[in-house]
Amino acid sequence: MQNFAFHRPKSLSEAVSALKQADEGKLLSGGQSLIPVMKLNLAAPSDLVCISSLDELRGIRTEAGRLIIGAATTHGEVDASAEVKTAIPALADLAAGIGDPQVRNRGTLGGSIAHNDPAADYPAAVVALDGEIATDRRTIKAEAFFSGMFETALDDDEIIVAVSFAVPDRAAYAKFPNPASRFAVVGVMVAQHKSGTRVAVVGAGANVFRATDMEKALDGSFDPSALDGVAVSADELTTDLQASAQYRAHLVTVMAKRAVAACG
Ligand SMILES: Cc1cc2nc3c(=O)[nH]c(=O)nc-3n(C[C@H](O)[C@H](O)[C@H](O)COP(=O)(O)OP(=O)(O)OC[C@H]3O[C@@H](n4cnc5c(N)ncnc54)[C@H](O)[C@@H]3O)c2cc1C
Repeated sequence: MQNFAFHRPKSLSEAVSALKQADEGKLLSGGQSLIPVMKLNLAAPSDLVCISSLDELRGIRTEAGRLIIGAATTHGEVDASAEVKTAIPALADLAAGIGDPQVRNRGTLGGSIAHNDPAADYPAAVVALDGEIATDRRTIKAEAFFSGMFETALDDDEIIVAVSFAVPDRAAYAKFPNPASRFAVVGVMVAQHKSGTRVAVVGAGANVFRATDMEKALDGSFDPSALDGVAVSADELTTDLQASAQYRAHLVTVMAKRAVAACG
């Protein structure tokens, strides 16, 4: 790991200016993705700007039918939140299934979606729950945010402040986890909204995507049997040591059915 300067700003505006002044500055939130990347010398920032304890990036509240969660909220806090459990219990369940207690106690919502690991869980929730990502300068809709493997629409010096989720009529997340890391080999969030059903898939491909054929089938009948014979194509899916693209395609239907069944 290379040497770096460490900054602990006291406000969002201090964080913005520390980042702007750095040669190759990086935000540090929970460090659960960035520190391993730095240890492997895949990133060598000149400056780390720690935002994990900024008040402006913390807190959970419900407002006009949406649940708003600060970017620096840890997975453990989302899992434990009575407000989340009441508004969107599926989101608390998803957070409870991330990694292990150490990862959940440090890792944050903002860090997870900024990193956009293809096997991360939160992108499924952000897309299925019609998420909006508020940054220090604009609001980005979920589907414009996740632009590719480990890529997002964020500018280099842009800071996620909070994520807002539409409260659905019902929703559930089902994941086939890697047995060691708990990252998703395949994860599917199904959410039924007044405006229609959204099915978002992670782990299967390079980036989170919506399974639109499944959404249409579930809009016809919100029952696991509606997904009999409905599958995503394996063509664009990932083959790696854990699973072939064909197996992942099969898992998407199985996880989607489990999520629908869990919606009750
Ligand atoms: C052993 C292990 C198991 C894991 N298992 C899972 C799992 O099952 N499911 C899962 O989804 N994830 C898993 N993770 C990843 C974990 O969820 C991380 O917490 C998450 O990917 C990154 O969040 P962080 O707060 O630690 O971000 P950091 O590591 O601090 O930052 C990650 C990246 O995001 C940027 N960033 C951070 N905050 C912001 C912000 N507010 N605005 C803009 N950019 C920002 C940073 O600059 C950096 O580029 C696992 C990690 C480990 C180490």
